[in-house]
Amino acid sequence: MTKRVYNLNPGPAVLPEPVLEEMKENLISFPGVGMSILEMSHRSSAFENILNGAIEDMRKLANIPNDYHILFVGGGASLQFSMVPMNFMPPANKADYIVTGAWSKKAVKEAKRVGKVNIAASSESENFKRIPKQDELKLDPEASYVHFTSNNTIFGTQFSTEPIVGNVPLICDASSDIFSKAIDVSKYAVIYAGAQKNLGPAGVTIVFVRDDMLSRCQDSLHTMLNYKTHTENNSLYNTPPVFAIYTVGLVLKWLLKNDGLDAMAKLNDEKAKLLYDCIDNSDGYYRGHAEKESRSKMNIPFRLPSEELEKKFVKESAEAGFAGLKGHRSVGGLRASIYNAFPLQGVKDLVEFMKEFQKKNS
Ligand SMILES: *Cc1c(COP(=O)(O)O)cnc(C)c1O
Repeated sequence: MTKRVYNLNPGPAVLPEPVLEEMKENLISFPGVGMSILEMSHRSSAFENILNGAIEDMRKLANIPNDYHILFVGGGASLQFSMVPMNFMPPANKADYIVTGAWSKKAVKEAKRVGKVNIAASSESENFKRIPKQDELKLDPEASYVHFTSNNTIFGTQFSTEPIVGNVPLICDASSDIFSKAIDVSKYAVIYAGAQKNLGPAGVTIVFVRDDMLSRCQDSLHTMLNYKTHTENNSLYNTPPVFAIYTVGLVLKWLLKNDGLDAMAKLNDEKAKLLYDCIDNSDGYYRGHAEKESRSKMNIPFRLPSEELEKKFVKESAEAGFAGLKGHRSVGGLRASIYNAFPLQGVKDLVEFMKEFQKKNS
């Protein structure tokens, strides 16, 4: 087998190795069933156990109150950009959006098709290098909801705590930092996250919906685009992404086995600190994109003194076994995505590589 590299891709991203091992172990013949999970009916009791086990584990892991539905939906986080306003913008038909990056902008684009969007704050004029402060938010107390992106995968910024929005329902795209730390789910009306960053493979999106929000979903909506369809059928109205849900279930078990979200947060803090310390102690050789108070613990974009050196860094880091470091074109340079499953040792080795590279190339 080809040796595994350190995978720093922004998404799809690194999965825990024990999860991959277990998948491999059970791929041909699932224990007690005798066929692959890839061949199994989504109506089988074996799959229903997997689905319900994943829901139970998620509730336990993230302390999700009982009045929240936990859904598995196809279509990526991008479909949620449409489903959220279609279901929750009526009857007022206006919503607040905090715009902190490319994904927030895409959410706004879809919401505008449904009703009036108030941009409560935007850091676009500063190329999204920071998270707007609470006192900058121009919130409408009559908005149907406030939407924000908790971690900005491309620009490497992250809300350290959720915006305070009074009685207006708070809706969050948590695709790139879901389960990287404990959050108080009861502060949110809806949370959604594509699985492929921090939670599993591509193909499934998890959605938590507080029960009272469902009274807004109109029967005139297309069946598959109505959250009520998914809550009333336990995410089994149509064939769900069976294999992706199975893998998410294994990742949840891995998180529980490794002492849950507080332990994961501690490890993520340690990993991010190593990398940011390396950047901050490089005498300006490495420059982070995000302002210090807004820094993400998941995605760390940084620049080098010249584009030529950046190209060299991408090439040589890949040769040294670090994959996926090339930055997004809207920021340039490099980006290290160090999600839950990225090992501490990998960050230590990357920091060593960065120090060596600087020594040889300054
Ligand atoms: C990756 C990402 C998305 C898009 O997810 P898809 O599953 O590709 O639709 C949306 N929001 C954030 C914050 C992301 O990181």
